[in-house]
Amino acid sequence: MSYFLTEEQQAVRDTARKFAQKEVRPRAVEIDHEDRVPEDLVARCAELNFFALFVSPRYGGLGADLTTTCLVLEEIAKESPAFAGLLNVEIVLCPGSVEMLGSEAQKQKYLVPSAKGERLLAWSQTEPAGAANVMAHQTRLTPDGQGYRLNGVKIFCTQGTAKNYLVMARTSRNGTEGYGCAIVEQGMPGFVVARYEDKLGWRGTNTGTVMFNDVFIPPENVLGDLLSGNHDLGVVNQASFLGHAATSLGCLEGMFERTLEYVKGRTLYGAPMTQVQPVAYWLAEIYAKIEACRSLLYTSARRLPTEGRRGFEEIGIDGLLGSLCKAHVGETAVQGTNTLLQMWGGAGIMDRTGVNRYLRDARTKIVAEGATEMHYAILSAALLGEAAFGIPSSTARA
Ligand SMILES: Cc1cc2nc3c(=O)[nH]c(=O)nc-3n(C[C@H](O)[C@H](O)[C@H](O)COP(=O)(O)OP(=O)(O)OC[C@H]3O[C@@H](n4cnc5c(N)ncnc54)[C@H](O)[C@@H]3O)c2cc1C
Repeated sequence: MSYFLTEEQQAVRDTARKFAQKEVRPRAVEIDHEDRVPEDLVARCAELNFFALFVSPRYGGLGADLTTTCLVLEEIAKESPAFAGLLNVEIVLCPGSVEMLGSEAQKQKYLVPSAKGERLLAWSQTEPAGAANVMAHQTRLTPDGQGYRLNGVKIFCTQGTAKNYLVMARTSRNGTEGYGCAIVEQGMPGFVVARYEDKLGWRGTNTGTVMFNDVFIPPENVLGDLLSGNHDLGVVNQASFLGHAATSLGCLEGMFERTLEYVKGRTLYGAPMTQVQPVAYWLAEIYAKIEACRSLLYTSARRLPTEGRRGFEEIGIDGLLGSLCKAHVGETAVQGTNTLLQMWGGAGIMDRTGVNRYLRDARTKIVAEGATEMHYAILSAALLGEAAFGIPSSTARA
């Protein structure tokens, strides 16, 4: 596969692979079992400059391309898909949003430390009414004297060790309703991290409810335009979806590697287990799917535009490769990890083998940052030239 990659991309991938195999692998089961963010590994990612990958050199970043960023996420996901999922939010979605929409002062204040891995960012959009159903969201940013007041409750916010939050809220200006974004810092009066959820997969990422009780937001903490701040992030959204596809691919590859080793070493009925049908067939079939997904992902990472403020309706079908990959690779990873787990028999169901987390993480991924059906709805809307059902096209994400 090396003909796909430049020497620089291979070097970064090799760094990520070494880190993943030496440092993440021994911790992956513990992260899942204890459901605790591995702060030391977050610190190591900062040392290795992973949080700087998707940030411009002007703000302390490496300005790496999307392919390089995906390679890092894929390698880490082979060992811990959950940790890679958290990293995607902190490496691509949040810094990408600040770089795309932020003022110079906001970039200096929020992007520069995030690129160093010092004050990481979280994305907070989902409400009980539905992540993409933004017209029914209740969180509001209301003018108040010299600034604004933020009131509302957000759920399912993946926070890791984040210190700053990008919070989507209903807004209005001169009687016109909109949807914008406020930057909230931990410690602002009225901001409460309520509780973290116990969940099926993506354990060790601190996903939970955050509350905003009359939080004062100074004007300089409104990200982008007050009424349409969320609108122009279509390109960043797609990059982030591609990052999630990379973690789904890594998840499937990690499970495949472990399963191959397991079946090669197991004897059943006095013969190698690989002689039991359909084990050999399944292995070949899943290997083919991995290769197909990898080709799709790397090609998409090259083709996907990552510059320019644009909403979904302005991107066009070729710009929706992130949605396409997240849906397709994500679903393939669920089917693939499910079949691979079957080859482990009862041993795969038991926690002590440490492999059933791959299926749980793959399954979680096809909901987090937009369910598969939503991504296909966006794609079909673009194909048909219509608005996606129930989704204001510019705001469909989270
Ligand atoms: C582990 C995890 C981490 C998360 N982290 C974050 C985070 O950091 N920040 C954040 O804001 N949110 C986060 N979320 C929320 C996540 O983005 C939403 O759960 C997801 O987008 C689905 O939205 P929903 O839960 O509101 O489901 P609903 O909107 O209630 O949808 C339910 C189902 O209906 C179908 N559906 C919904 N809309 C459409 C549509 N337009 N077209 C076709 N079918 C549709 C899908 O099958 C979907 O699964 C996270 C979720 C998980 C599971």
